[in-house]
Amino acid sequence: MSAAGPPQSANSAPAGGSEAAKLRAWGDHTSQRDTSSISSWHAHVYFDAERRDTAKALREAIAAHFRDRVTLGRFHERPVGPHPQSSYQLAFAPVELAEVVGWLALNHGELDVFLHPNTGDQLRDHRDSAVWIGRSYALDLRAVGG
Ligand code: ZN
Repeated sequence: MSAAGPPQSANSAPAGGSEAAKLRAWGDHTSQRDTSSISSWHAHVYFDAERRDTAKALREAIAAHFRDRVTLGRFHERPVGPHPQSSYQLAFAPVELAEVVGWLALNHGELDVFLHPNTGDQLRDHRDSAVWIGRSYALDLRAVGG
């Protein structure tokens, strides 16, 4: 261990009123969001110039494995919308989530994947409901109303 200070969380403010309110809310099922609000999911595969061919190959493997169970979007070779890297999108129904996440968790290789639900609130979906496979990135939330 180095002589570094305590982890960041040790420096954060103690739980105040809003944290306590949040804890109460989680215990109150009437304020929980229901997964039935999720109409679909997106998985966005990120890549840089060095990993372009790897990303193409993964895309072909995804198409072969999932066929019509996922809808593949365009191969964007530049940042688009809130995404800070080149990317392509998989869109799929909630019923496919376990297979898509499991398959990508095992097969993403050196590529990173951003997943989010689609509930009709784009900012919340991208900012508060993000799921990452591999490394996480800061999104440009202005593109989704942030
Ligand atoms: Zn998306």
